[in-house]
Amino acid sequence: MSEPLTTPAGAAVSSATPETTTSQRVTSPSAQSDSVCASNAGQAASSSAQTVGEPAPVAFSERDLHFMKLAQAAAEDARVAGEVPVGAVLVRGDEVIARGFNHPIGAHDPSAHAEMVALRAAAQALGNYRLPGCELYVTLEPCLMCAGAIMHARVARVVFGARDPKTGACGSVVDAFANPQLNHHATVLGGALESECAAALRSFFAERRRAVREARAAARDEPPRTEPL
Ligand code: ZN
Repeated sequence: MSEPLTTPAGAAVSSATPETTTSQRVTSPSAQSDSVCASNAGQAASSSAQTVGEPAPVAFSERDLHFMKLAQAAAEDARVAGEVPVGAVLVRGDEVIARGFNHPIGAHDPSAHAEMVALRAAAQALGNYRLPGCELYVTLEPCLMCAGAIMHARVARVVFGARDPKTGACGSVVDAFANPQLNHHATVLGGALESECAAALRSFFAERRRAVREARAAARDEPPRTEPL
């Protein structure tokens, strides 16, 4: 068992699970012009751009890509619901135990991030508040709240897509999983289908900005309101 590894602005990797056989390190952009948060109206994360001196990106397995695509489908559910498009699936072996999508606005619930929703559903499905041996795939780097829940649930492995330079807790802002004082059990790997995951977020925010501009323009064109007699 090795010490957790981390890159200054990249994915954290810790090896505290028997499933981990190799240490993996993922590159990440050191600076991003845009950012995204699943729970606020931030900007979409930019895609990764490797810079000189950074290690080569991890080549994700077909299995990882398959489950990340399922997480992307869950993110699409969030987009349709008018929420920031983040999706997650909780997997045990090759079985999807639960899925979740981000919907804090509709649920009036600040904790209704995709990861939290998937964790809750999986715990209910398995009848266990802990989820050892399970993996969580999520399209956006987990925040501190979700990282904490992932630790409490004893999730074995987390794979995320886009990085979140505003609230990411897997290396972008803080690296919760690299703290040896926290009782974490998860291996974390970032950047799976990163450009696609980031593009979904960017297009969502671009569409929302466009809708706001159109609404303002329409309001300017309207005749002045008259007070009722
Ligand atoms: Zn979160």
